[in-house]
Amino acid sequence: MFIDKQTGATKIKNSLVMVIAIALPIGFAASVKALEVQVIPSKPKLGDTLSVVVTPDNPANNRAPSITVNQKTYPTFAIAPNKFRALLPTTPLEKPGNRVLQVKSGDEASKIAVYVGDRKFPVQRITLPPGKSGLKATQLELSRVAALKNLKTPQKYWNGTFLKPNKGRITTIYGVRRYYNGKFAQDYYHRGVDYAGAVGSPVMAPADGRIALVGRVSQGFRVHGNIIGIDHGQGVITTYLHLSRINVKEGDFVKAGQVIGAVGGTGAVTGPHLHWGLYVQGEAVDPVPWRERKFN
Ligand SMILES: [Zn+2]
Repeated sequence: MFIDKQTGATKIKNSLVMVIAIALPIGFAASVKALEVQVIPSKPKLGDTLSVVVTPDNPANNRAPSITVNQKTYPTFAIAPNKFRALLPTTPLEKPGNRVLQVKSGDEASKIAVYVGDRKFPVQRITLPPGKSGLKATQLELSRVAALKNLKTPQKYWNGTFLKPNKGRITTIYGVRRYYNGKFAQDYYHRGVDYAGAVGSPVMAPADGRIALVGRVSQGFRVHGNIIGIDHGQGVITTYLHLSRINVKEGDFVKAGQVIGAVGGTGAVTGPHLHWGLYVQGEAVDPVPWRERKFN
């Protein structure tokens, strides 16, 4: 293991003899193959997106490697000749500590440990009147939004850092946890960033992508309100909730900075705002690092 001076990333060259031995006939004196795995950022915290770049030793093997963490397998996508990348989510619901990443590429394999540090998220205490638990989402909005988050389009549409989706100030950051009537909500965290833009102020696409969801209150999006979902490709999705206006339709391709709608107060809200969510392989991650550095 060494620290790359240019990127600050931890690079690990490793090989798994066991996997090689299974893949080859017994008695075959093979030279053990290695693959290079690079993880950025080098010191991730809960809520960060891990960028795992795999360079197989054997270019002839040009198949996308897979990465398995905690029994979950994530796809990698080609980002350059003989270079593949997986984006792995981390969330406030996880425990900090070591993650073991098993990387497999043909007969090459590597196992590396990545330490995900703790992060203190703000806590809100909410008091609900007895018998009131707020609006319930409809089956339609739940299934449409779940399908959106699970898209894994092989193409990569975005390029460079993400732009702000609205010019308003941020009122609630990502990851806030809640107590309801004194009871900690185990599964709740604020799955995005709230912007306090005025009603009718423009909402911009932060990066290029394809409009994969347009949903309206009139169709049954009673919690999300009027919503847009953008597929940026390779399992990266953004969502825009509570809109007053929608300027796009499903299937449209949008450019970074393009106005897609306007801030509103539709759905389950206490006041108008834009809720911006960023999902990686189905999990809501902190969008802020995507605004600060390139995931190219
Ligand atoms: Zn929100």
